[in-house]
Amino acid sequence: MTDVVLDGVEKVYPGGQVAVRDLRLRIDEGELFVLLGPSGCGKSTVLRMIAGLEEVTTGDLWLNGSVANGLAPRERNVAMVFQEGALYPHRTVKGNMMFPLEVSGDDRAEAGAKVVELARALGINSMIDRLPGTLSGGQRQRAAIGRALIREPSLFLMDEPLSSLDAGLRTELRIEITALVRSTGTTTVYVTHDQVEAMTMADRMAVLRDGLLEDVGTPEQIYEDPATVFVAAFLSSPPINLLQATLWAVEGEGLVLDFGSQRLSVPWNDPRASSLISHHGRSVIVGVRPDTLLPVTPGSPAPPGTTLSGRIRAMEFHGHEWLAYAEAGVPTADAAEVGRPPPPEPRDPGRPGMRGRLRTLLGGPVRDDPPVEEHAGHHRRSDLVFRIAPGNRPQRGDHVALRVDLSRVLFFGADGHRVTPVHR
Ligand code: ADP
Repeated sequence: MTDVVLDGVEKVYPGGQVAVRDLRLRIDEGELFVLLGPSGCGKSTVLRMIAGLEEVTTGDLWLNGSVANGLAPRERNVAMVFQEGALYPHRTVKGNMMFPLEVSGDDRAEAGAKVVELARALGINSMIDRLPGTLSGGQRQRAAIGRALIREPSLFLMDEPLSSLDAGLRTELRIEITALVRSTGTTTVYVTHDQVEAMTMADRMAVLRDGLLEDVGTPEQIYEDPATVFVAAFLSSPPINLLQATLWAVEGEGLVLDFGSQRLSVPWNDPRASSLISHHGRSVIVGVRPDTLLPVTPGSPAPPGTTLSGRIRAMEFHGHEWLAYAEAGVPTADAAEVGRPPPPEPRDPGRPGMRGRLRTLLGGPVRDDPPVEEHAGHHRRSDLVFRIAPGNRPQRGDHVALRVDLSRVLFFGADGHRVTPVHR
């Protein structure tokens, strides 16, 4: 078993493309750690650097307490499974799973018994004598996982191993993979762009965006207490409402969130008031998950400063719930744009960039200047999304008042970072 530390790791590809920037992460021994983020954010590059398939341009990669930048892949005792588990087409499942043991000269009888045992754990023991071409995608992936795990690697790396499978099979396999890796106790790094996969599988997870680390923590921490607007939005389904407000500290009323035509007020006794007051007179982004908006029953008015209102524009049936979209005339933020770091300038990959040189000179990380407010997301007039309670379905065109559970609302600055403390 191995722990992994990335200390200021950067990756610049030969063409000058900066794929990973100043990454600082610790993956503990025995952990199932997920790297999550949209396509192109640098997840695979991180995984491939850990595997030794890509060189680290600057910074240090530590495996099991030693710097491993210069180690060849075979010296790292890592096993990797890709999106399409590449199997030898002319070898049976058993032959494929045996192969790593044959290469290392293991006893044939012992190796055979080990393969059968692992194939059973993977649910493919009945097809052990079949060729890969006769298997389904899910069965092939199980065989590829078996071949990777048979050597009992210290570190198991998986790059989107389920993304080519259909939804039902994905769920089944993700439960099995999680159970299997947990039972072996192998340190595992799992790459995915699917937030459900990440949240259901991870002990801890990191969210990447444009090669930068946005947040790291347990799935509960990341979901309930996200560090940035981007993370809150990436993990929310149905989408979180991101409302643009100006925050005013008003004596006798509280911290007023002024949305132009509507307002909410956070009472002074709210535990977050002391952090929010520093944003008096400034733009904030208010994150309101659909389940924190509750339609107010006519005849039972809510206290002032606790509701938003709008007219229902559309409703959607999702099987287990109905979602409604209401036009509320409240400006919203675009999570894809808020706090987006400026694209890195292509670099000469042969030499450390200015930040790398500065880090060497200063002996520590180099901080970016804080993003300025003018660079925050563009304003869009958009809908408030909320859930409709069963049996209480309003009609399109209805006017609704929505009670906001202010204790569960998230506050971000115009740069996309949380205004109130993030607990990790
Ligand atoms: P992800 O796994 O999150 O989809 P990748 O790590 O594959 O992201 O890619 C990160 C960035 O690096 C992308 O902009 C991608 O185009 C670029 N990239 C990946 N591989 C190479 C390569 N071999 N040469 C140049 N650029 C690359």
